[in-house]
Amino acid sequence: MKAAAEFVVSAAGAGDFPRDRLPEVALVGRSNVGKSSLINALVKRTIARTSAAPGKTRLANYYRVQPAAGRPFYLVDLPGYGYARGVRAGGARPAGEDAAGFRRLAEEFFDPRRRGAAEGGAGKGMAALLLVDARHPGLEADLAAWEWLQAQPVPAAVVATKVDKLTRAERARHSRQLDSLFDVPVRLVSVRTGEGLEELWKLIVRLPSPPATAA
Ligand code: GDP
Repeated sequence: MKAAAEFVVSAAGAGDFPRDRLPEVALVGRSNVGKSSLINALVKRTIARTSAAPGKTRLANYYRVQPAAGRPFYLVDLPGYGYARGVRAGGARPAGEDAAGFRRLAEEFFDPRRRGAAEGGAGKGMAALLLVDARHPGLEADLAAWEWLQAQPVPAAVVATKVDKLTRAERARHSRQLDSLFDVPVRLVSVRTGEGLEELWKLIVRLPSPPATAA
């Protein structure tokens, strides 16, 4: 898919999130899972900084994407942190050295009121993609992140990265394991070979849904 893309803002909190009505697709995953590489591969440009970019790792980085055909939207790179399950009542929650900061950012990001309050009143389409490393199906942190994301009021899907690193046998086995662990069909992608990217684009474009009830 042809698209133009530009970096818009690194948001530290609700006050920095764009207030327009463009749909937002958030990418969530452990650091090093390949989020930046995937964003760059999707827009065919080096727009997201790969690996450690100090200062940007605790922020939600917004990229505005304008497909050659279709409506513009934001890809949002949420900070990569671990998740812990069952630590408190209320199920999965983000964990890690800056868990409180990330949790606040993530909760502000998915806040249904923000979606309902977007300019124009009709609400903002949103979706989330959880990225997991195809080599390591079922990491506790990934499963907890999925549990947490599914509790958010937005459509979500799971994408397994770096599938080029698997042998054919591993690929078949891991793919089955991933589908079963996450209980949804997990899409396999590689930025090295380009596998799965076109299909992922199609998913990204159709996944965002407006809030069920505009708050
Ligand atoms: P982020 O921390 O999630 O943004 O991860 P990066 O995008 O910086 O990627 C982490 C490392 O994984 C980098 O060395 C990338 O080159 C590598 N990587 C990312 N995606 C792929 C992939 O599809 N295949 C392979 N072989 N390596 C990848």
